[in-house]
Amino acid sequence: MSDGALVLFSGGQDSTVCLAWALARYDRVETVAFDYGQRHRIELDCRKAVLDGVRARFPEWAAKLGEDHAVDLSALGAISQTSLTRETAFAFARDGLPNSFVPGRNLLFFGFAAAIAYRRDLKRLVGGMCETDYSGYPDCRDDTLKALQVALSLGLDRRLVVETPLMWIDKAATWALARELGGDPLVDLVVESTHSCYAGDRTKRHDWGYGCGECPACELRRAGWEKWRAGR
Ligand code: ZN
Repeated sequence: MSDGALVLFSGGQDSTVCLAWALARYDRVETVAFDYGQRHRIELDCRKAVLDGVRARFPEWAAKLGEDHAVDLSALGAISQTSLTRETAFAFARDGLPNSFVPGRNLLFFGFAAAIAYRRDLKRLVGGMCETDYSGYPDCRDDTLKALQVALSLGLDRRLVVETPLMWIDKAATWALARELGGDPLVDLVVESTHSCYAGDRTKRHDWGYGCGECPACELRRAGWEKWRAGR
């Protein structure tokens, strides 16, 4: 049986590094995207550029890169609209969570991913969740994902492994991991083609890529880049 992986691939920096990580390890790698009308639909457009870039620049990986799946989760978009009401905004503030939080998003993502992995005979689910410099999302926690692995494996009666290669590293180490996995061509691909900015800005180009340069996602990406460059 082939040792295959399904990567939760949004087109952002983290999931792109996870894709490379999986391609470096496993025989067969497929990708999945969840479209729930999020404000940075632009990130989903970046996916194609990254996948094309992998196929063009990394022949060994291109041979292992299989189908790309898209799941329409517009229902999740409808639920997350409630974050715009005053009461819910208050609840998030009280819990110390950012307003951008879509409750339980990863629980749903992994449920759908597991169903696809089952049908595609892929053993591993790979995601870019991270506890190191995360925003407090409880569904990104290592314990949450380990519990999900158990629940999904039991519910499908099939051994599934949830892998999160970025869980314990910071953004500087994520840049370093990209370099280690794919050298400068992969770092270039991450800079040019991945998207992190909450504002969806792709008009301003910085050393670390495109973005408004002001939002928390840009700040995290820039700080990680600078820390990594300073340490090289
Ligand atoms: Zn930004």
